[in-house]
Amino acid sequence: MLTCEALIKDAAAKIGGDSPKLDAELLLSHVTGHSRTGFRAWPEREVTVAQAEQFSALVAERVEGKPIAYLLGQQEFWSLPLKVSTSTLIPRPDTECLVETALSLELPEAAKVLDLGTGTGAIALALASEKPEWQITASDRIAEAVELARENGQNLNLPITVVQSNWFESIPADTFDLLISNPPYIPASDRHLSEGDVRFEPASALVAGDDGLDDIRLLVTQGLAWLNGDGWMMLEHGYDQGEVVRELFASAGWRNIETRKDYGGNDRMTLARKPAS
Ligand code: GLN
Repeated sequence: MLTCEALIKDAAAKIGGDSPKLDAELLLSHVTGHSRTGFRAWPEREVTVAQAEQFSALVAERVEGKPIAYLLGQQEFWSLPLKVSTSTLIPRPDTECLVETALSLELPEAAKVLDLGTGTGAIALALASEKPEWQITASDRIAEAVELARENGQNLNLPITVVQSNWFESIPADTFDLLISNPPYIPASDRHLSEGDVRFEPASALVAGDDGLDDIRLLVTQGLAWLNGDGWMMLEHGYDQGEVVRELFASAGWRNIETRKDYGGNDRMTLARKPAS
């Protein structure tokens, strides 16, 4: 019998992990278009053979560990439904603390903001959804990411400018009030890279040299030239990188250097200000 209830129960038993029933419901909802509450209201509802086959193929991929966001093609960030693809990192809730901090800064009314390594466009789009008057540019080195960020902007009707650039290399000559980034910051030999969702995500979005700091070092040293006096830079980093990132900012001449924690209480980002000119 291809009832929703039976399919979900059977799939959840195969999937295992932290949230097997939720995963099964999300996948069946994706395939059938029925809502998760619908499954509870009408458990005996049957699906077609084609839907059951499609569902079973997705469940098999989930059992292999493929992230649920890649299977659904979507991930929510800052309450925005973002399209995701395997060319980009899946936006994480922890990154929302960068958005929150950016919104708390005192910036000019029409602040010029650059989100470097935007991936899906998550940070830039979250800021655009809150601050329609800000002029927001997003960049990524990977062409597929540039396309995806543009598509997400169009779908959400949020006007960001997306450019293809390897960090600052192809950014049109300009100065900004805020530079913000969730760069790769995992050391190449980190055990974490062979566990869970990250196995399916692009290494280019995760790994930054032997100590995980290659890209952060570049951003901290080059960032000053792209900021107005008194402008801010804000970088996400690993829970154990707060101290070394503060030192990098300090030795490059930044001021007001401060590390903030994520919702789990771990160091997650450091912000710093360019000295007034
Ligand atoms: N926080 C992510 C993780 O550890 C990595 C994100 C990143 O490298 N920018 O899975």
